Amino acid sequence: MDEPRAAPGIAVDSEREWYEKQIYDLRQLLEVSKSLNSTLDYNILIDSILFTTMGQMKVLKAGLFARKGIDTPYFSFHRNYKGFDIDHTIDYTISEDHPAIKLFTRQYGCYTLEDIQRRFGSLAGLEGLASLEPSLVVPLKAKGIINGILVLGERIDEEPFDAYEREYVLSLAAMAAIAINNAFLFEMTTTDMMTKLKMKHYFYTVLIERMEQAALAEKPLSIIMLDIDFFKKFNDTYGHLCGDAVLKHVARIVQESIRAVDLAARYGGEEFCVLLLDTDRDRAMAIAERIRLGVASAATDYEGKSLCVTISLGAAQYDPARDVSAKSLIDRADRALYSSKQNGRDRVSAAD
Ligand code: GH3
Ligand code: MG
Ligand code: MG
Repeated sequence: MDEPRAAPGIAVDSEREWYEKQIYDLRQLLEVSKSLNSTLDYNILIDSILFTTMGQMKVLKAGLFARKGIDTPYFSFHRNYKGFDIDHTIDYTISEDHPAIKLFTRQYGCYTLEDIQRRFGSLAGLEGLASLEPSLVVPLKAKGIINGILVLGERIDEEPFDAYEREYVLSLAAMAAIAINNAFLFEMTTTDMMTKLKMKHYFYTVLIERMEQAALAEKPLSIIMLDIDFFKKFNDTYGHLCGDAVLKHVARIVQESIRAVDLAARYGGEEFCVLLLDTDRDRAMAIAERIRLGVASAATDYEGKSLCVTISLGAAQYDPARDVSAKSLIDRADRALYSSKQNGRDRVSAAD
């Protein structure tokens, strides 16, 4: 059998202690893996990666450069960073074309800022990263592609990382990279790329979950269905691209009119739905009215033309005695929406 390999830089008194440390570290990694795999929510995941890194690597600060969207060609410093002071005059983005990204891809490993500077002669294009004064820069790589750059700040004990710790943080990074990749795939398959709102099937899944929770906790829950009035007119008069612009415009107003805990989705072509937690019928009606007014009062520009858009809405509160399925609740909101259309459009109706 091979001699146990002593960890460079780590003082171990005996072979036994060395194995104990290995087992302990593996257990920690297993816990990290469980925690990172328990969520597909991007924000929660980033927090989980950063707190884990701080705890495991004993650093006071941690942050992550990540892609904002599926199609963004650069990495930006995610706002969930911990401990760093941010200077708003500095550009905290790294282009995917920066040679450092190619270096990370080809020679995978962790780097100090000095390693990077030595390699390229300067830190041009990495000003944001450099200003954070990282103790270690750890690229995240999944399926051969860099999908994030983890930045470790100063260490609690101010000691440099030894080879064992560098290897350990790369194991952490490998798990974080896979988790980010999964969260991205999930985001991609549940988000409507045009409006950036969630899609119908995702809305349905969440609605079913939330209905169960609301019934158990005896808390109110409401939904709003809304549809753009005479939408075909925009397509027919100015073309399909104009219709698309109107869709994006309405989607943005809907998203901006609700809280982060609520959920807006594109239900179909020019129909949207909103899930409102802890919200009764009267409150839902008030929110629906706010959305209606927001759309009616904000003209949108399309190729120099100012377009007036209106929407019709229907709101319904979940009634556990009546709504045996999510479909029943949606149908009631839909019927309320239909009566808004019948009664002249640009209005809100409540379900019976
Ligand atoms: P109403 O006030 O009764 O809702 O009238 P409307 O014209 O809005 O309703 P209708 O359902 O007749 O038309 C909806 C149109 O939306 C038909 C379809 O071609 C168009 N549409 C669906 N999805 C998209 C899309 O992604 N982009 C564009 N530009 N048009 C779309
Ligand atoms: Mg319509
Ligand atoms: Mg419609």
